[in-house]
Order: sequence, then structure tokens, then C-alpha cells
Amino acid sequence: MGRYRFAQFGDECLRLMRADEPYVVEDSETDPRVAEVRESYRQTLIRSVICVPLHKSGRFVAAMAVHCVAPRRWTGAEARIVQRVADRCWESIERARIARELRQQYRTFDTALSHTPDSTYIFDRDGRFRYMNQALLTLLRLSFAEAVGKNFHELGYPPELATRLHAHIQQVIASRGQVRDVTPFTGPDGTTRHYEYIFVPVFAEDGSVEAVAGSTRDITERMRGEAELREANAKLSRTNRELEQYAYITSHDLQEPLRMVGNYMELIERRAGKELSEPMRRYIGRAREATVRMQSLIRDLLAFARVGEHGPFAEVDLGAVVAQAVENLQAAIAQAGATVTVGPLPKVWGGEMILVLLFQNLIGNAIKFRSPERTPAVRIDAARGDDGWIIAVRDNGIGIPAAHQQRIFEVFQRLHSQSEYEGTGIGLAICRKIAEQHRGRILVESIEGGGSTFSIVIGDAPA
Ligand code: ADP
Repeated sequence: MGRYRFAQFGDECLRLMRADEPYVVEDSETDPRVAEVRESYRQTLIRSVICVPLHKSGRFVAAMAVHCVAPRRWTGAEARIVQRVADRCWESIERARIARELRQQYRTFDTALSHTPDSTYIFDRDGRFRYMNQALLTLLRLSFAEAVGKNFHELGYPPELATRLHAHIQQVIASRGQVRDVTPFTGPDGTTRHYEYIFVPVFAEDGSVEAVAGSTRDITERMRGEAELREANAKLSRTNRELEQYAYITSHDLQEPLRMVGNYMELIERRAGKELSEPMRRYIGRAREATVRMQSLIRDLLAFARVGEHGPFAEVDLGAVVAQAVENLQAAIAQAGATVTVGPLPKVWGGEMILVLLFQNLIGNAIKFRSPERTPAVRIDAARGDDGWIIAVRDNGIGIPAAHQQRIFEVFQRLHSQSEYEGTGIGLAICRKIAEQHRGRILVESIEGGGSTFSIVIGDAPA
């Protein structure tokens, strides 16, 4: 008994083992190959021996020996038996090792999956659970042993749901692709919650679908949040619509009395004519100017309220849109001696009429707020952004002080008096609203005295 090295039984033994050949000794007392190590043979009572090597992947990994305390003439059949026994032993050892590894892998994977809040599971091709993680076992109030090997029907799922889930498993196997769906489910505690699940194929080495894996997530809270958001959005658009309608109706109803005031002023002027004193004539003139101004305020407010009433969106050529806006501003451009340069513009998804209004307002402002020191020059260019086109309208006008750059987009916000620059303070509010209708926004960059750049982002068409 004890531990011995191969070398203690002679170099020849080790050489043959490495060469994958059996080592046979009939009598160690007379065999010249063991002369130098005979003492080891005596100690271990090996008088005769047959020793066979095991080679795996070209490497000598183990050997098995059978020995006798007496000299023996080994037959070929005996040598073959020893070889076979050695092979079988090796296979058993290997199988045990692989089984141990598999168990460890399973433990690792089960530990990982049992600590996720989502349910994860595996079905065989017949739709029977092969694995279920702790989240699902807890939800179903089952032990692993109770659940494994059963299908949805056997686990007491409502028949309609069990049939649908089973059909999805079969669909994954047939299509070799995933299936996703959402279902309500009432647990053993009687509460109904909503679950999103995804089933995916597990492929075998030969490419066939060997099993179906799945995971299920409780989306009750998410759905509630989404529903609340939808409701809030609906309420917001309702309020917005109401406000727009209100603005529209009031401005519309204001027009008529205003027209009357204007008409009567004109009548007084015409009828009283020469009888009017100079101051009276001036007062009437002021009053008529005021009605004209109020008319333009109402006209702009109406336009603002109506931005939401654009027709259905379509593909719009921005080149044509800007050309139209420039055409509408022809008189003002000529009067200011301005140049308007337009770079290549893309096609976008939007409303043609309101886009013309947008560019008309921006180009109109660029010319209106020109610097007395320079010939007004306006440039319009397009660049690609992450989620849409960015169209920049650049001028060399008076610029906007940084402190006021945000408030100019609000209704009625102006930075100048009527006598300096005419206007209603509604134009940029309209522009912002139009940009928002196009899933976009409007920004300004400007240096006081050094020109302004208004950039509109026009979002890409929804997929
Ligand atoms: P309005 O042009 O009728 O005054 P807007 O809403 O179009 O109203 O513009 C608000 C204000 O923003 C303007 O009164 C002006 O002070 C400023 N602004 C707009 N565009 C420009 C521009 N291109 N250059 C300088 N200032 C501008």
C-alpha cells in the first residue's frame, strides 16, 4: 500500500505508457527491464503485471494495472479485458465529472435567475415547464417539484389563456422566432395584474428548436402610468382646443364692432367735413389709426389661434415653401433693398400653409429688424439633426439682447415701441406653435447689434 511513482517501476513502463502501448511483465524477478527497480516490485508484491495506458486527445492521462503475486503468462484476451475495463472506468469518471459540472452550472444559472423580479422559465417542445425561476414559483405559489414537468392546463391556468400560451409556444417552434404579447392574469391571491411576456426559441447544436425560453414582466404599474399620461394629454389637448376656440371666437367677435367704429369715424369725417376743427380732425385720425392697429392685432391673434387647424400633413418641399414666403414679402424686400439667399432645402413632413406662414414671419422679421448701417441680407440653410431637419434663418440685423431671447417667443412680447418698429408681438409665438406642430422647436442665437439666427427643428415623419 502506498503512493509510488511510475518511474519507480522502470523507465520502460513509462515509455510504453506514453507510447500508448501495454506494459506486460511475466516475472519481475527475471525480467531484465526491471533489474534496477526490482525493490519496488518486491515491496508492492508485484511479481507479474499487465498495465494499460489511457490516452485522451493525444495525451497520456491515466493507466490501469492488474498484477499477480506469482509469475504469470498473460494471454491476449486478458490484455484486452484490462484495456476495456480501463476505458469503461474512464468513461464513468468523465460522466460523473460532467454531471457535477452540469449541476454546478444549473445552480449558477438558477441563482442568477431567481434574483430577478421578472419570471423566467423554459418549456420543452410539448409546452411542459422544464424550469421556472423563483419569481414565477412565488407568483403561482408552487414548489419547483410541483411545477416542473407540467403544462399550463395542468397548472390550472384559465383554459383560454393556457390554450393561447400553448399556441404561442408552438408558434415559436414553428417560426423559429420570438413571440411577444400582453395578458391579464389573476394569481392564486385573487389579484389581477397585467403581464408582458416574450417566448424565444432555444436552438440545439444541429439548429433545431430544442426548447422554448420565456420571461414575463409585470407591467401593471407601467400601464397605469401610460393610461394616466394618455388621459392627461387628452385633457391638455382638450383645454388647448378650448383656449384656441375661445381666442378665435373673441377675436372674431371683436372684428365686427371694430369695423363699425372705423366706419362711423369715417362717416363723421366725411359728413362733418370742413366743420371739424383741426384738433378734432387729429383726434379722429388717431382713433382711426388705433382701429387699424387693433385690426392687425386681431388678425394676428386669429392666425395664432388657427395654427392648430392645419390640414393633414404631407410631404412638403421646403424650397417651394420658402419661395412662396419670399414672394409674399416681395414688396418689403424690394423696399428694404434686402437680399435673400436660399441654400438647398429638403422635403419634410408637414403642413404647407403653416410652413409658409412660419418662414414669412421669420424672413419678415429679419428684414423689419434690419440695421440702419448695413444692407439687409438673409440666408436660409438646412442641416441634418438627430431627429429631424434644422433650418436656420440668419440675418445681419440689429440682434437681440441675451436677456430677452426667451421672452420674444411669448404672445405680445416685443422689445421695441410701435414708432420704432411696427408689429403685434405675435409673429414668433406663431412660429413656435408651428414648429411644435412639426414635432420640433424654435431657437434663437443672437448678438446684440450683430444679427440673429432663428433655427427651426422640423421632426421626421412618424414611422
Ligand atoms: P413683432 O415682429 O410683431 O414685434 P414677433 O413675435 O415676430 O413680433 O417678435 C417679437 C420681438 O422679437 C420683436 O418685437 C423684436 O424685438 C424681436 N425680434 C424678432 N425677430 C427679430 C430679428 N430677426 N432681429 C431682431 N429682433 C427680432
